[in-house]
Amino acid sequence: MELAGQIIRDGGLVAMPTETVYGLAGDALNPESSKKIYAAKGRPSDNPLIVHIADIEAIDKIVSDVPKGARELAAKYWPGPLTMVFHKSDIVPLTTTGGLETVAVRMPSNEIAREFIRAAGGYIAAPSANKSGRPSCTTAEHVFNDMNGEIPLIIDGGAGGIGIESTIVDLTGDKPCLLRPGAINLDMLKEVLGEVEVDPSIGGVESPDAHPKAPGMKYKHYAPAGELYIVEGDMQAVCDKINLLVEDHEKRGETVAVIASNETKSKYRCKIVRDIGSRSDEISISHNLFAILREMDDAKVSTIYTEAFDTPILGMAIMNRLIRAAGHKIIKA
Ligand code: AMP
Ligand code: MG
Repeated sequence: MELAGQIIRDGGLVAMPTETVYGLAGDALNPESSKKIYAAKGRPSDNPLIVHIADIEAIDKIVSDVPKGARELAAKYWPGPLTMVFHKSDIVPLTTTGGLETVAVRMPSNEIAREFIRAAGGYIAAPSANKSGRPSCTTAEHVFNDMNGEIPLIIDGGAGGIGIESTIVDLTGDKPCLLRPGAINLDMLKEVLGEVEVDPSIGGVESPDAHPKAPGMKYKHYAPAGELYIVEGDMQAVCDKINLLVEDHEKRGETVAVIASNETKSKYRCKIVRDIGSRSDEISISHNLFAILREMDDAKVSTIYTEAFDTPILGMAIMNRLIRAAGHKIIKA
C-alpha cells in the first residue's frame, strides 16, 4: 500500500481491484496522471474518467454542489457500485473529466481499493484497466495481459465480485438520468430519486449521430476478437437456432463457441460450450461475463453465439454490455 500510494503521489499509475472491475488508477487532481492513463489504455482523451474516493467527506472538495438526492443515494449505496455525475469544482483538471465541467464520482466497497485510495492522497481517477475497446478486466491476470510494460504495479485483489462496471447516474440536469446500467438498478435509483430518465443509447438501438450524455458510450466496447451474436427468443427455439448455426460453421472447419447458462449448456452440440453461470444466480453471470469474452480470444474463436440474459435485477446491465460487445448483432430465434 505504501509503495502503491507513493507511485500515485509521484504521478505514476497503479492497477487496483474493485468490486466491479479492475481500475487503472492515477492521481485525479494531477493533469499529467490523467494523460498517462489515456496513453496506457489507448483511450480517446474526450472519454472522461471516474474519480474514486474512500470517504464521503472527500466529495465536497471536488464537487461544486451536491444535490439532496445524491446525499440520500450515497447514504444508501456507498460504498458500492454506483457512480454519480456532478458539477465539478475548480480543483478537478479538465484532463480528468475529458474536457467536461462535470465530474463522475464513486466510492468503491472493495476495502483494498479504499485503503489504496487513502494511501494515494484520496482522489483516484480510474477507468477500467483494459486496453481501450477490449473486455474489462476482472482479474489481475487480465490486467497483466493488457498492461504489462505500461505500468509498474498491479494490486492483486483476486477476481472481482460483480464483474461489470458501476451504474452511472447523472445528477446535473433537471431530472436524474441513468447513463450506464449496473448492479444498482433503475428501480433502486427510482426508490430514492423518484423519476429517473434513461439515456436513449442504453441497451437499445444506437445510431452514430445520437449524442449520448456519457461520452464513453459512443465508443466500441468490450469486444472480443471473434464475431459475437446474441440469439434471442424462446429458450428451446434459441437452442435449436444456435445448434443449426454452429453446425454450419463447424462443417466449414471454423472455430465456433456457444455461451450458455448452467441450465441450458447440455442442450448444445458444439465443441466449445462455456457455462456463464446460473439464471437463478444473476451475479454468477455478470461475474463471469468479461472473463469468458477474454477466453474466447485465447481460444482464437472466430464466431460466438450467446444466449440473452434478461435476468430480473442485473439483466439491463448484463445485456447492455453484451449488446455493445456484439456490436448490436442480434438474431431472433
Ligand atoms: P469506465 O469505462 O469504467 O472507465 O468508465 C468511465 C465512463 O464513465 C466514461 O466512459 C463515461 O461514460 C462515464 N463518465 C465519466 N465521467 C463522466 C461525466 N463527467 N459525465 C458523464 N459521464 C461520465
Ligand atoms: Mg471501460
